Amino acid sequence: MTFAELNLTKPLLNALTDKGYETPTVIQEKVYSVVMSGRDVCGIAQTGTGKTFAYLLPCLRQYQFTKDKTPQLLILVPTRELVVQVVEAVQELTTYMNIVTVGVYGGVNLKPQQAAVHAGADVLVATPGRLVDLLSAGAVKMKALKRLVIDEVDEMLNLGFRAQLKVILDLLPPKRQNLLFSATLTDEVEALMNTYFNAPVRVEAAPVGTPLTNIRQSAYAVPNFYTKVNLLSLLLRTHPDMNKVLVFVATKHLADELVEEMDTQLPGQVGVIHSNKAQNARFAAVNEFQAGTIRVLIATDIIARGLDIAEVSHVFNFDLPEVPENYIHRIGRTGRADRPGVAIAFITEAEKEKQAAIEALMNYAIPMLPLPDDLAISSELTFAEQPQIDMKTIQVKTVKRDDVGPAFHEKSAKNQKVNVRRDYAAEKMRKYGRPIKRSGKK
Ligand code: AMP
Repeated sequence: MTFAELNLTKPLLNALTDKGYETPTVIQEKVYSVVMSGRDVCGIAQTGTGKTFAYLLPCLRQYQFTKDKTPQLLILVPTRELVVQVVEAVQELTTYMNIVTVGVYGGVNLKPQQAAVHAGADVLVATPGRLVDLLSAGAVKMKALKRLVIDEVDEMLNLGFRAQLKVILDLLPPKRQNLLFSATLTDEVEALMNTYFNAPVRVEAAPVGTPLTNIRQSAYAVPNFYTKVNLLSLLLRTHPDMNKVLVFVATKHLADELVEEMDTQLPGQVGVIHSNKAQNARFAAVNEFQAGTIRVLIATDIIARGLDIAEVSHVFNFDLPEVPENYIHRIGRTGRADRPGVAIAFITEAEKEKQAAIEALMNYAIPMLPLPDDLAISSELTFAEQPQIDMKTIQVKTVKRDDVGPAFHEKSAKNQKVNVRRDYAAEKMRKYGRPIKRSGKK
């Protein structure tokens, strides 16, 4: 099947041809026919499957021109970077259409975004928090809304956007088509769908638990954090083919620690992105990584989810994620659009349980590699790695007193003294016969 067979409009087809897209991906083909039939959609798809075009193509296909520039299509995404990315995808597809697309997200001044929406938007891409701000300021009208897309809904709920999502869903016109996309179908996602959606048709890109087959996975058993740092820099120094490397770590704190260590070993080659970074720094890090200015990007899961960075050569799991599914999301960032990718994990003794859970989920044992001979094994431990000393709790018994009365006792002898104000003027008068001021000056 080709895009030409999809009953797309000429402008959309031309835009796709310009970009060299010829055949729809599985999810694109499946979602297209369901959306065109008017039904609600629940798409189970992760980034890299082409899910963005899967919802954009049929929604843009059904766009009806009006002079009234209020949104017909609303797309909710969990992160600010995704807003920017989806806006770019819409603009790519609407090169030959008269459609205004506006992206709004928090962390930056509300006023310019408010002005942009006010000036007119056919397609609005938003993070839930900022949309609630705009809706409550009366800055955006939803009366013309025809379709709602909620992308990465599982991540949105993970990030705690539950309340905002409900506020938004309650404010939208009820007669609309809904498209929901999630990498995993959790109970909560299902509950949300049953409450707000109308018997959605389930469409799956690749069942969760199946790693993309064009990713070569391997792992090293590494004793601790500092040895992991040494191994990462050794591999990067000896493998020039590791040219676009995404390194995942569990926490913002670890990300900061790792970038500090790596920057001394590979100066100027390493960037970092996590949610505590200022918005400008976040965009700059992604852009520099995308452009190849920096070779390595250290990232936490939350930020990296959904980011479509082209041609990532290697994904490192510097540590294993808490949630086994996240391992699959992480490694899915390489081997995109049918290009082979490499995923390498560093696993400590303490992470063996997580490894077992991941392998059970994938039904695949990650091949282990021997540590390189020239690797410097560090014996230094981070605070978190140091053995925890159990502090003994010593119970201190207080003496029981029966004769406890009011908290009153007589003053002791030395505290009996009464302070009397001294009258210096009178003392001087007595001594010198005239009132001498203490300062001696007027
Ligand atoms: P997504 O899963 O939406 O994040 O898309 C992943 C990447 O695949 C994006 O860089 C798209 O440009 C690309 N892509 C989407 N659809 C197609 C297609 N039909 N053929 C080739 N590449 C595509």
